[in-house]
Amino acid sequence: MLLGSVADDFTGATDLCSMLVRGGMRTVQLIGTPAAGDPVPDADAVVVAIKSRTAPVRWAVEQSLSALDWLRKAGARQYFFKYCSTFDSTDKGNIGPIADALIQALDCGFSLHCPAFPTNGRTLYLGHLFAGGVLLNESGMENHPLTPMTDPNLVRVLSRQTEGTVGLVPFPIVEAGAPAIRDAMTRLKEQGRRHAIVDAVTDAHLLAIGEAATHHALLCGGSGVAMGLPGNFRRAGLLPDAGNAGDLPMIAGPAAVLSGSCSRATLNQIGFARNHAPVFELDALTTPDAAKLAEAALAWTDGKIGATPVVVAASAPPDKVAALQSALGGPDKAGALLEDAMARIAEGLVARGVRRLAVAGGETSGAVVTRLGVKQLRIGGEIDPGVPWTLASGSGPDLLLALKSGNFGAPDFFLKAFRLLEG
Ligand code: ADP
Repeated sequence: MLLGSVADDFTGATDLCSMLVRGGMRTVQLIGTPAAGDPVPDADAVVVAIKSRTAPVRWAVEQSLSALDWLRKAGARQYFFKYCSTFDSTDKGNIGPIADALIQALDCGFSLHCPAFPTNGRTLYLGHLFAGGVLLNESGMENHPLTPMTDPNLVRVLSRQTEGTVGLVPFPIVEAGAPAIRDAMTRLKEQGRRHAIVDAVTDAHLLAIGEAATHHALLCGGSGVAMGLPGNFRRAGLLPDAGNAGDLPMIAGPAAVLSGSCSRATLNQIGFARNHAPVFELDALTTPDAAKLAEAALAWTDGKIGATPVVVAASAPPDKVAALQSALGGPDKAGALLEDAMARIAEGLVARGVRRLAVAGGETSGAVVTRLGVKQLRIGGEIDPGVPWTLASGSGPDLLLALKSGNFGAPDFFLKAFRLLEG
């Protein structure tokens, strides 16, 4: 294992995995902190996904340290703490406390931080994070229900989360290239800074930052800054130039789509799929019971599971979502009920022979994967940026799973996903 990573959420971990596969690293995502005796996957990179982003700080730190300990025993050469490209966190954490704990455990004294991901509109200039061309605190993230981001200056934001001090490697130095960035980080470390926010506006910056951190024990950031890491390992002669990092064994069997995301992108994708595949919509307003909803959906699939994917959707436009939320006593209750229903439907579909499954929605994917007893995902080729096919293994039969975070994917995502497998 060359790279060992701890990621603070589930679909975010998959996003990092996809970036590494694109760079030619065979990558496996583990679901939750592995136990001491768990086998080490045969892979160049292992990403441990922990749902720690909004968890209590102490639990988040403990889990991240256990994952780091496991990755160290498995022989990783470099470590990466993956968080969201919008730096989702609060003044209590969890980015600062987890990074502090990892720096201390690795005894490395310092880590860079770079959440920038220009391809997805996340850029970092003079320590200020922009999302979609506007400052983070004007991007909608200031209204996030769990991690409202009201300050775009990440030097300040991270300073409030750590007992260490935070420096900045500003744009002109990043623009000057890898040696200048490396020197700047060395100087900041010598001055006693524990963290450095590093600006990045283009992919060239991300590659230069990666190269500058070749000998760093730990990097912290979004998946973007991992772009340069495969090249580092390759230059060191540790990673072959193989083009098959995303090869997966083919698994035959019927296909299905489960959609619990209500994002605009997903609603468009369901609309597109409607012209090509049978779609069943859960009616939780009439039947507010997860087991009964699952029963009805599974009964509908009888006789339909076969060559064409079946689509089961909870997804609805904002007015319907609001109506259900008020009928069921709030967003959390409505969300939990539908996640439970989706997880039960996934279980029923696998029992009926489905072996290729695409799931839309981060929380929905978490519920499905947990119910199916999936322990690890071997990452395959991308369907759309950030969403790969994966080989899921665990307590049930092996499956091909595509887990799509709500906003990702082109309108024809679901059709393209299964067409790719046929190809
Ligand atoms: P995304 O990745 O788009 O955020 P998630 O699965 O993470 O998708 O979150 C969507 C949430 O909305 C889930 O908790 C899901 O159960 C819930 N949900 C899905 N459909 C509806 C609906 N019709 N009404 C209310 N909540 C819904």
